Amino acid sequence: MQTFLCATCGTQFPPSATPPAACPICVDERQYVATGGQRWTTPAALHRTHMNAWRRHEPDLFGIGTTPGFAIAQRALLIRAPGGNILWDCISVLDDATIELVKAMGGIRAIAISHPHYYSAMVDWAHAFGAEIWLHEGDREHVMRPDPAIRYWSGATHALAPGITLINAPGHFDGGTMLHWERDGGALLSGDIIQVVPDRRYVSFMRSYPNLIPLPARTVRAIAAAVEPFAFTRIYGAWWDRVIDHDAKPRLAQSVARYLKWIAD
Ligand SMILES: [Zn+2]
Repeated sequence: MQTFLCATCGTQFPPSATPPAACPICVDERQYVATGGQRWTTPAALHRTHMNAWRRHEPDLFGIGTTPGFAIAQRALLIRAPGGNILWDCISVLDDATIELVKAMGGIRAIAISHPHYYSAMVDWAHAFGAEIWLHEGDREHVMRPDPAIRYWSGATHALAPGITLINAPGHFDGGTMLHWERDGGALLSGDIIQVVPDRRYVSFMRSYPNLIPLPARTVRAIAAAVEPFAFTRIYGAWWDRVIDHDAKPRLAQSVARYLKWIAD
């Protein structure tokens, strides 16, 4: 028995003798089945061709992402925190080097994930470090590999650790989650619930990024309102360079205004 991972979205499924019939995450209108049809891989196959790279974004905040890029190619973020490290979002590759390096940094106490496209190999990561996984209950139906390590939270916010708060902002997904970290004026780890775009002066919002399905004005206003009570100067998006490293809060406000202007009748 081995686990299979979808090659297009990176989602890991429960151990099985043969690959699943389909990947519901990719069949969903927010993702897509690649040209040529559904493809699967396994951790053993993936570890022969891929490895993880690291970047220290700022003190106590490390990016971990797979090279060459795999599936959606997001990178995770590891917050080194006094009460135990927090992994924000997750990736499909967990190789021996990553396990040793993370353990040398104190392991992982909790994993929190913005939305199902980044659930990836979360259960493998949780098992390797004895971590809890915190997901918003709004996305429970999208969990492909259930596990006792998964905890569901509900409501608008969840205090994950001192100075670290999870914020629910429905839009891209009902359970869409961002993480606020109080450090140095505040950082918002947004996954792609709020999407940092290549022009890093702005962010944007979509129900589906690959399939270009927008969100309505009321939803975009609600996403902005969900983070309004929090102070932050940086927004960390889901990829290495998708980072707004200063003035993030006014740039969010300008981005909301621009978006609403362009979707108006
Ligand atoms: Zn998939």
